[in-house]
Amino acid sequence: MVFERPEKGTTGRTRTLLLIIGVSLCLVAIRLWSLQIANGSRYREKGLRNRIRTVILKPRRGNIYDRNSLLLVGNTLRYDASVDYTEMERNREARALLVRVLQRVLGLSEAQIKKRLDPRKAIHYLPVKVQRGITEQQFYQLKSVEADVPGLLAEVEASRDYVEGSLAAHVLGAVGAISPEMYRRYKKYGYRRDDVVGIMGLERMFERVLQGNKGKMKVQVDYRSRLDRIIEEKKPQPGKSLYLTIDVRLQRTAENALSGKKGAIVALDPRNGDVLALASSPTFDPNVYSLPRSDEDVENILAWGHDPNKPLYNRAVRVAYSLGSAFKPIVALAGLEARTISKNTTFHCPGAFYLPGVSRPWRCYHNYRHGWVSIENALKRSCNVFFYNLGRKLGAEAMCAMAARLHLGEKTGIVLPIEARGINPDETWRNSSDLRARSFVTWYAGNTINLSIGQGPLEVTPLQTACAYAAIANGGTYYHPRLVSKIMGGQRNMLFPVRSEPLGVGESSLRTIKEGLRKVAQEPRGTAYRVFEDVSFLKVAGKTGTAQYGPNNELAYAWFVGYAPCDDPRIVVVVLVEEGETGGATAAPLAKQVLTDFFTLGG
Ligand SMILES: [Zn+2]
Repeated sequence: MVFERPEKGTTGRTRTLLLIIGVSLCLVAIRLWSLQIANGSRYREKGLRNRIRTVILKPRRGNIYDRNSLLLVGNTLRYDASVDYTEMERNREARALLVRVLQRVLGLSEAQIKKRLDPRKAIHYLPVKVQRGITEQQFYQLKSVEADVPGLLAEVEASRDYVEGSLAAHVLGAVGAISPEMYRRYKKYGYRRDDVVGIMGLERMFERVLQGNKGKMKVQVDYRSRLDRIIEEKKPQPGKSLYLTIDVRLQRTAENALSGKKGAIVALDPRNGDVLALASSPTFDPNVYSLPRSDEDVENILAWGHDPNKPLYNRAVRVAYSLGSAFKPIVALAGLEARTISKNTTFHCPGAFYLPGVSRPWRCYHNYRHGWVSIENALKRSCNVFFYNLGRKLGAEAMCAMAARLHLGEKTGIVLPIEARGINPDETWRNSSDLRARSFVTWYAGNTINLSIGQGPLEVTPLQTACAYAAIANGGTYYHPRLVSKIMGGQRNMLFPVRSEPLGVGESSLRTIKEGLRKVAQEPRGTAYRVFEDVSFLKVAGKTGTAQYGPNNELAYAWFVGYAPCDDPRIVVVVLVEEGETGGATAAPLAKQVLTDFFTLGG
């Protein structure tokens, strides 16, 4: 496969270059210095005490770039003060010297050092970090006396750097100390108990790719631990780099739009399924997870973990929501495909709908009386009564079948560690062991009426919704979402292919739906007309949705799903806001910001 060289802006290139130089220097440094230190005495050969050493050479972790090759995640240097027990002299004077040196250089009390040197904290054969993240000056001070203080180690390590801070945190993830469980799983690849690994997001998903492989060097040293000769050397293989489909600029717009709210924004390219932005709010700073962690970092991490607003959750893929009226285009599509209705079919909306034998009415939105409405106008004005009638004629299975065709209620397979499946409440689900299915084993006519406007057990993620609408927008091809476009480095690069399948629905059905969605944003009285009135040149089409929830239905999931330009869509945007008012008031304005920026940036 042939790859184009990624083009970078000057800043990006300089930065990358500096980083490469930095990391290379670091590796050289580790090598040279490691040769002088007593390390890995497990491999010491009998009779050659302090003569043969094995030094582990750590690989550089791969970088992560956005779709324009802008660096999102790289590495910086970090200095640590450590003690190697296996080299520490057993006599009291040598130990006292070690403590004195650490005390003087690090400015710690004797008690603090002794506490940190507690042998019970030591892991087999691994040096104990007395202090992570010491200053460069402290590092050189320790380095200068290292050879004369048995057991003392001044170490250099690469530390993860999330260049844009919290931006795209839910996608990128974070690194941290390897868990016992991960250690067991990765031991066969040469992982050690003190390794730093991906613990969330892409960092975790692509841990093996990003980590690289350790090298090893067997050396002979003189009585003062200086290098005599290299006996054997296996170079470390650096980690590979990930190139994302995310556009960092659009990601920033999406996150700014969500600021102070709970919710998610997904932007997709409907022509290939590329994820352009995947934002979730509230968020967190992945840098805080990187070791070393200060007491404040640890407090933050604990607070995020316990926060009822769940800032660590990626709401775009990990949480499934009731879709409300944004489900109507799927119902409409099912109706047209089943020929239950045509483009010209009208139903009368007197403001409410009654089922025979049920006294409780199903109301139209805000009790509107829309009169006679066709499918296009029913979408435009979000008339519930039209869809109650259509849903009743169609039946639940036909609606669920169309939802399934659009992959709603199933995992999209995006390359992130945790994805919600959601619920497509078809017969299989209703008879499944899912606890929530129990109250729907008997499916009433009223359940079908609710489903026709996206109420009831149907639950989808914002990402699933984006993919489904992309298929409608592009005229009938379902693209599986692509978040990583390529992995570069090593022997050969790897491209992630675009994966698609035809929806198999009629072109004229899609045309009718799209005309309805166009009216929503472009014709007076459309539910999002007011929002997009002043940006009519963007030619937005879309659908609002408001799904009530909470103990007294006092809260709402506010949705807007849109795309533009409506006749040749280049972007699909899904906005979901929890505790919102309505889709039109809460979600559509955020979609407008994203769409406006997308086209300002050059689309
Ligand atoms: Zn109505």
